[in-house]
Amino acid sequence: MNNGNSYDCSKCPGYCCSYPLIEVSRSDIARLAKHFDVDYATAEERFTLHDAEEKVRGLRKRKDEFFGTACRFLDPKERRCTVYEARPSTCRDYPYARTCGYWEFLKFERDLQDDSKFVAMTR
Ligand code: SF4
Ligand code: SF4
Repeated sequence: MNNGNSYDCSKCPGYCCSYPLIEVSRSDIARLAKHFDVDYATAEERFTLHDAEEKVRGLRKRKDEFFGTACRFLDPKERRCTVYEARPSTCRDYPYARTCGYWEFLKFERDLQDDSKFVAMTR
């Protein structure tokens, strides 16, 4: 567990990284630009997309074997964030509580299946 939280991201396949929109601010893009040593415009184009419906920018996705799509920065095998130090604010703040709904669901399914590596689907 981490910092008194009831969930353990190190044992989770990164469900929250598969959310349809992972919003980024200008400062998030600037942080990614610095991390990759590229200019702001390059980082914006390379790592984000404009979401026409929500009228914000979000992280680009790629195919994911478990969740259909996931953030381009999620390591598909290790299930870890590859830009952890430079991840956007929304990733730092999530799940905004000491508990995580998906983690509770995952734990329940893993106990039920008696399989500590089981990946629980939600759709
Ligand atoms: S879904 Fe919950 S437990 Fe899994 S990585 Fe995200 S915050 Fe951590
Ligand atoms: S930047 Fe990292 S923590 Fe945020 S969604 Fe992508 S892989 Fe997950």
